[in-house]
Amino acid sequence: MTDNLTKEKRSWNMSRIKGKNTKPELIVRSMLYSMGFRFRIHRKDLPGNPDVVLPKYKTVIFINGCFWHQHEKCRRANIPKTNKDYWIPKLKRVKERDKENYKALESAGWKVLVVWECMLKDIEELKIFLKNKLEVQKI
Ligand SMILES: [Zn+2]
Repeated sequence: MTDNLTKEKRSWNMSRIKGKNTKPELIVRSMLYSMGFRFRIHRKDLPGNPDVVLPKYKTVIFINGCFWHQHEKCRRANIPKTNKDYWIPKLKRVKERDKENYKALESAGWKVLVVWECMLKDIEELKIFLKNKLEVQKI
């Protein structure tokens, strides 16, 4: 039992590090699909390679890990006390790159939605969030 949990946690961490088709991404995708939204994934021709693209809604969604993308005021974004010199500049770069990507997308007419990993704790609330954000965007 303990072993299983560890293994699960390990693969979860691995998938997060690789950054594609992570568990949160799969959850959000299946949620959107069940809500009737149709989308494309990982469009390489868009800045930042958004996780989900909804052309009909002119909206892109990034599903961001709270730590890697430094979710403000989120306790999952706490930087480890050791190796701060390593983490702070590294995470700052990620955040800056995110900002640039979002700006580029917005100036191309896309609405950018960010779903934070911690928002997956409350699936019902996340559904409402997505529905509200997307409905106003429908072309
Ligand atoms: Zn968070």
